[in-house]
This record gives sequence, C-alpha cells and structure tokens, in this order.
Amino acid sequence: MRINEHYTEIGNNYLFAEVARRVREYKENHPDKTVISLGIGDVTQPIVPAVIDAIHKATAEMADAKTLRGYAPYEGYDFLVNAILKNDFLDRGVQIDADEIFVSDGAKSDTGNIGDILAQDNQIAITDPAYPVYVDTNKMVGREIELLPCTPGNNFVPAFPEKVADVIYLCYPNNPTGTVLTKEQLKKWVDYAIEHQSLILFDAAYEAYVSQPDIPHSIYEIPGAKKVAIEFRSFSKTAGFTGMRAGYTIVPKELTTQTSKDETLSLNAMWRRRQSTKFNGTAYIVQRGAEAVYTPEGQKQIREVIGYYMENARIIQTGLEALGLTTYGGVNAPYIWVKTPGNLTSWEFFDLLLNKIQIVGTPGSGFGQAGEGFFRFTAFGNREDTIEAVRRIQTELNR
Ligand SMILES: *Cc1c(COP(=O)(O)O)cnc(C)c1O
Repeated sequence: MRINEHYTEIGNNYLFAEVARRVREYKENHPDKTVISLGIGDVTQPIVPAVIDAIHKATAEMADAKTLRGYAPYEGYDFLVNAILKNDFLDRGVQIDADEIFVSDGAKSDTGNIGDILAQDNQIAITDPAYPVYVDTNKMVGREIELLPCTPGNNFVPAFPEKVADVIYLCYPNNPTGTVLTKEQLKKWVDYAIEHQSLILFDAAYEAYVSQPDIPHSIYEIPGAKKVAIEFRSFSKTAGFTGMRAGYTIVPKELTTQTSKDETLSLNAMWRRRQSTKFNGTAYIVQRGAEAVYTPEGQKQIREVIGYYMENARIIQTGLEALGLTTYGGVNAPYIWVKTPGNLTSWEFFDLLLNKIQIVGTPGSGFGQAGEGFFRFTAFGNREDTIEAVRRIQTELNR
C-alpha cells in the first residue's frame, strides 16, 4: 500500500485545531479564568421556531411507516429545491432551473468535493487569505496554486493571476476579511473567466449578510456567469444550520467543457454523476427544516437573528475603531478583520489576547500568508460575550 503523499504537503494542523489546542492548554493551566471565544465561525443563537416546528413535524412522520422517508433523492427533495429556486433566485430576478440545484450536507463538502470532476493539471487561483478548504483540498491532489493577495493595498480586490487560471475560487462576502466585491468588480472576474475559459467557484455562504444595494447576492446576477461559474450556498450561516448540515450548489447546464477527444461534457451531468455515486442525500428532517427557512415566519425569524449578529459586528467594529485600530468588513459579513496593533504577528496578538484577557479570535495568518499581521473576530457570539470581549480589549489596549 502507498498513501497519497500530497497529504504530507498540507501540514498537520488545521487552523482551528491549533486554536483549540492553545485554548485548551490555557484553560488547563488557568481553570479559574473565563475565556470568551470570538474565534471559530460557529453560530450561538438557537435555530428559529419555524424551523424547529418543521423538524418536529418531519420527525413525527419518520415514526410512522405510512409517512417514513428512506433515502432522499441525491439532488434534494422537490419541496426544498422549489423553495430555493423561487426564493433565492426567481423572486430576485435571477433565472436558473430546478435541475441546476443540488442540495447537499453543506458548502464545505461541496467546495471540497467539486475537485472530483476537475483534472489534476488545472492551474488554480485562490484569494489570499481564504477559507482553508480551497487551498488544502487542491494541495491534497497536487494541483498548482497561485495565491491572489487581498490586502488594504488593493482594497481587498484581488488582481488577476500572473499565470492564466483554469479555476478561480472567489468567496464574497468574504470569510475571513468580511469584505465584498461590487457587481462591477465581480463582472471583471466573470469577463476574465469567459475570455480565458476558466471556471469560477463562487462561495456565497454569507449571501444573507449582504446589506448594501450594489453588492451581488449571487454571481448569476452578472451577465454571462452561467457559462463560467458554479455557486455554493449554505444554510449554516443563513439559518444556524452548522450542526444540522444543509447547503446547496448551483451547476448551470450552460457550463460545458471540451474533452481532449473533442467531446462536449456538461459539468451539471458530471456533478450529478459524482453526487449520485458518492453522496446519499441530505436527511429528510433537515430538508424540511431548510424548507421552513423560506416561509414568511421563517424569513422574519432568521432576519432577526442575522440582525442580532450584525449588531454584534457593529459593537466589535466601533469598539476597536475607538481604540484607533484599523478594521475591515463587518458591514456585509459577520466578520471583522483587524490590523494587529504595534506590528504584532497574528499569532503574537492571539497569544496576547488569550493570555492577558482571555479572548480568543482567529490569527489572520492561518488563512494564508497575506493574512499575516491581521486578526479575525466573528460576530457569531452572544451579545453579553461580545460586549464583555470588547470591554476587555479596550481596557487592555488602553493601558
Ligand atoms: C462556514 C462557511 C461555509 C459553510 O460551510 P457548511 O459546510 O455549509 O457549514 C462555506 N464557506 C465558507 C467560506 C464558510 O465560512
């Protein structure tokens, strides 16, 4: 037996595992201290009542042979696919078809698994910093990656790669920087992809947090995008589904490619083949919960939770700015990206906050080298913790 030796190239520690390790060690040595985490991007507020009611109802159906549901369709139940189609696309003026929607257990799996249908020798471009899944899953198969730095110097708008990219990962609103692209800025990337026959993998996990008018919710708002882009969505940040697991991916039928033998292949057909082979569907109960997100009550309730998190974002951002720190994001995304004070490295700032005031955030360098010297706070905490964390930071940094 031989192993996939590319795994030796990705390092042992997943970013959040290292954060968790340092926090665990600190807690063991200081059991009397209360540590507040504004670190990992996980939600804290309960799943809304409309969704909980739907889950309960679906659970009762599973208790009766007459209404039991077994394996779900690979692409998702029609009731959920149609709710997604109407609410997230058609009602917003974006034309897609039901058979372009693939319901899944989340965007992490899909952004990682999409590489299954792509050749190993593709040239990959990934913004830096980035959600670690993009880089690591490509390294796992040995693909060549060019990083596109996103810094204050370019207003967090990546420049085109030096080497023509076959595949481009874009995540907007962005995790970790919280920054966005306008329609005009995103259009330049769609045009690039059309010109170079590249594929854009667009991660829109934070679409629900867009609050400003000219910021696209979907890449398909840009003309021509259906020829060049796959879009990933998630119920995790939209509706608190991080522990429930549901998302979906749009693979337009217009997205085709020529094989080396000059056959035309549909990526939609390939992804369907991939999912039906390796994935056995998202749980019925969870899909009923996701469907309820789109009811009027569900929408009202999730908007309240999103508003709650965005108020946290405002509290963090104004609190840090009052200290004279430079921050980014926080307006169309639940993340605040902050320049570390005094030129500390990201991990030095992490250790300072943990050891001195027991606040946990995420070191920017963990998201890529362009993240060095930055730090990410999430707005997903509860209100009291967020206020207390800002108070501690202000006390410490004002000394
Ligand atoms: C949280 C997150 C996801 C969503 O992951 P799920 O697997 O759906 O929970 C996807 N992309 C980014 C950038 C994220 O931050």
